[in-house]
Amino acid sequence: MNEKSDKLIDKKGIRGDGRKADELRSVKLQVGVLPNADGSAYIEHGKNKILAAAFGPREMHPKHLAQADRMVLRCRYHMAPFSVQERKSPAPSRREVELSKVIKESLEPALFLELYPRTGVDVFVEVLQADGGTRCASITAAALAIADAGVPMKDLVVACAAGKVDDTVVVDLYDAEDKLGSADVPVAYMPNLNAVTLLQMDGVLSPDEFEQAVNMAMEGCKKIYTMQKEALKTKYMVVKEVEE
Ligand code: ADP
Repeated sequence: MNEKSDKLIDKKGIRGDGRKADELRSVKLQVGVLPNADGSAYIEHGKNKILAAAFGPREMHPKHLAQADRMVLRCRYHMAPFSVQERKSPAPSRREVELSKVIKESLEPALFLELYPRTGVDVFVEVLQADGGTRCASITAAALAIADAGVPMKDLVVACAAGKVDDTVVVDLYDAEDKLGSADVPVAYMPNLNAVTLLQMDGVLSPDEFEQAVNMAMEGCKKIYTMQKEALKTKYMVVKEVEE
């Protein structure tokens, strides 16, 4: 490889996929795509393609997992064997178990858990195609699926990452940047409540770079939040018009 092709950002500050440092990949969101689930959503975030389905609040099964004083949120993140270049084993990997926990903990603060004791809400996330940042895209889609299921929420949860590539802080890393870059900071956020529900860091950043990355990720979240609300309106405003 020559020196030029090693660089992820060119001299003009343009990234490998043509974006500027503060530019998001294109995001498409759709709500209510799976009629057999209580709620569902589909996200295309760059080349990521992810489905989320939600059920509940419903009686908890198995019953011994029910909590007398609150609802239990369960999340399962799964990558399809065809979602990455090398066939991935369909069995749950350590990474999928971890991401399932991360997604659950990012979404819980948006729910009124105490209002639905002994019940459970289940969220299933299927990554059909992965290209970096699937945990964030999964959180964005899962929050929409829960809202579509009619579960009362304090706010939507939206997620976006920022990180460091070739000594530049950039937003919304794609797979090559995620793997070859020096840091990745995924942030999940409830914009209306101005509350962060997930903050992770993989790699090394100076305090200034960290602050810049978190701010960039939160700006990205705010842009995707507008699209989330539009996706809900696209489904429910049409229903209202048909009723009228
Ligand atoms: P995130 O998807 O949230 O960035 P990671 O940083 O763990 O989570 O993964 C980064 C990317 O690595 C994924 O989005 C995916 O494109 C790729 N990836 C993850 N698991 C595998 C795998 N088993 N085989 C090939 N690529 C993978």
